[in-house]
Parts: sequence; structure tokens; C-alpha cells
Amino acid sequence: MIISAAKERTRRAALLQDYRSVFLVGCGACATACKVGGEEEIFATQEWLEELGHDVTGSAILDEACHIMRAAREVRRFRDQIAEADVLLVLACGAGAQSISECSDKPVLTGVDPLFLGNVRRFGQYEEKCSLCGDCILNETGGICPVTTCAKGLLNGPCGGMDDGCCEVDPERECAWVRIAKRLEDLQQGVFSRVVEPKDWSRKFKPGQHSIERTPGSRK
Ligand code: SF4
Ligand code: SF4
Repeated sequence: MIISAAKERTRRAALLQDYRSVFLVGCGACATACKVGGEEEIFATQEWLEELGHDVTGSAILDEACHIMRAAREVRRFRDQIAEADVLLVLACGAGAQSISECSDKPVLTGVDPLFLGNVRRFGQYEEKCSLCGDCILNETGGICPVTTCAKGLLNGPCGGMDDGCCEVDPERECAWVRIAKRLEDLQQGVFSRVVEPKDWSRKFKPGQHSIERTPGSRK
């Protein structure tokens, strides 16, 4: 999921200072799981905005704010309350905020900072697991991503700085390649032996190359 953090209240207040009335949009998927854009946060934000003297004309929590067609449907459903607002404040990732922006002629502000694609270990503890490199190597590394979890993104085993199994860059963390070797051993797959070619970064989607149309699951 997309791990996001709430913008500080001072930053939100500054963003909204030129607007009197606000319609709030949350997201029932990642933003709810990260506790930045679910029911509780929308309610708390509404209370805070009203204390600051803003009018909150209404709020909606979309199932997945990043789904443009569904976002458009919800924007239509709440059109009267949105029409009364000077601005929409979206508590969802940047993709969600852009769905809303695409569906509304009102100014759209985002109240969160998206951080990375990650996993939830437990509430409040998130771990970056994948950098979306476009050429997944997990099948050969025991399901542990070296691109993301090795501080140097190395593909062929540990660097010379690894010390007693710990990472040179962050000695509090176990070296990613030690974890990979242990996992491969546990799986009786043997330690990765071939030399991995330098990553073909042309397979990674980059800003500007961000629209695709394909059958789900296929590469072409
Ligand atoms: S190898 Fe690439 S696609 Fe696979 S988990 Fe790592 S960053 Fe993500
Ligand atoms: S010590 Fe291990 S995890 Fe840290 S940078 Fe070197 S190879 Fe990567």
C-alpha cells in the first residue's frame, strides 16, 4: 500500500488560509490503514477546521480515491456540498488527490505527504518493501528485495562494509544479503550463485511514462 504521513497542522492551516469553506475527502484504502484519511482523521480534521473558523460543507470517504471512475461517481454524489465549498481538502495519497482534481472544477489541496510503497507490520509501523523497479528479482532472492532493503541496492551479495551481519549504513539493521542468504538456506535453495547483470532501469516506470493500457497481469 501507499504509506503516507499527515502534513503538519501549521502547513495545512497555511494552505487553507485563503479559503473559508472546505469539503473533506478521505480514502478507505491505504490512507485509512495509515491513519491519515479514514473516518477518525476526517472527523478530527473537521473539528479542527471548525475551530479555526472554516465552514466544512461535508465530507466523503471514497473506497479507493485512486480509482478515477469511482472518484467521479462520488464527486457527483456529493455535488451539492462540494458546490458550497471553496476548496476540497483530500486526505489521501497523491494519486487519490489527482483523481479528485480530475473530477472537480474546484481547487484541490492535499493534506498528506505520500512516502513509499510499503507494508504494515502493525499499526504505526510501516516498512518499505518494494521500489517498483519493473524487473522483479524476488524469485531468486528468497522473497527479500535487495533493491529496496539493501541500503546500496546491491544485486550480487553484501558489500565490504557488512560487519558481523549488520549493515554498514545502518548498524542497527541486519544486512539485507545476510537475510537473503539465511532465507535461501532455510529454503534449501542454496545461496545465489550467478552474477546478476546490472539492472535494466529502462523497465522501471518513471515520471512521464506513467500511462499504460494492458490486460491485467500481462507485461505487453
Ligand atoms: S526486485 Fe524490484 S519489483 Fe521486486 S520487490 Fe524489489 S524493487 Fe520491487
Ligand atoms: S551491509 Fe549489506 S545491506 Fe548494508 S549496504 Fe552493504 S550489502 Fe547492503
